[in-house]
Amino acid sequence: MAKKSTVKKKAKPASKQTKSKAVAKAKPAKAVRLKKPKPWSHAEVVEAFTRFRAANPEPKGELEHINPYTLLVAVVLSAQATDAGVNKATRNLFPLADTPEKMVALGEEKLRDTIKTIGLYKGKAKNVMTLSELLIAEHGSQVPRSREALEALPGVGRKTANVVLNIAFGEPTIAVDTHLFRVGNRTGLAPGKNPLEVEMGLLKIVPPEFARHAHHWLILHGRYTCVARKPLCGKCIINDLCRWPEKSIYIGNA
Ligand code: SF4
Repeated sequence: MAKKSTVKKKAKPASKQTKSKAVAKAKPAKAVRLKKPKPWSHAEVVEAFTRFRAANPEPKGELEHINPYTLLVAVVLSAQATDAGVNKATRNLFPLADTPEKMVALGEEKLRDTIKTIGLYKGKAKNVMTLSELLIAEHGSQVPRSREALEALPGVGRKTANVVLNIAFGEPTIAVDTHLFRVGNRTGLAPGKNPLEVEMGLLKIVPPEFARHAHHWLILHGRYTCVARKPLCGKCIINDLCRWPEKSIYIGNA
């Protein structure tokens, strides 16, 4: 009869057993999905713009201008500059040149000198000169009321064209600047990865009765209330409608 082996199997170290059990039990990690905010209902959009209108019935842009041409020039000069900085320079420029002809007569060197407090002034002066010449040559010295013609001018992109079409011609366009881009996304009103997506989202949901001033209300809201670093949620008139998870609650006109 064969002798039973007295050699006991070596037990696995406790730590290894725990580890292997843990590995066997471990479930694959679930991908973390960010919850999308609930889209605004039509009634909520109407409510928000009704409040904006009640607070500021005739909102105005802050770039000073005398006519459509000076508005166009001011918007071209405002790229990556503050409205206040542009106004400071154009208060000296527009008394000298408020038409394309006068701008061309002024000359690029004098123009440069007049706007040299504005960032990127050399390139901007060149654009203003060329666009003034083009307005004279191709548009009878008038600012065209067409997006295509505006965007064909040097220094004029979609945002500039939208501002000019809205302010000079009363078109219901929405120019998405950095403030409006933030407000559209933060509030959940019109989320978008780029300005065009936010613009398209807003054009879809803003009711016609508010379309003319929507862009001013939202830009002013972003500039003075829903500011980038510490939004003034406590004073915000659309606080209860805003979807931003980090908003602080409404505490009245503090
Ligand atoms: S509640 Fe705050 S985050 Fe929301 S829109 Fe108002 S200021 Fe902006």
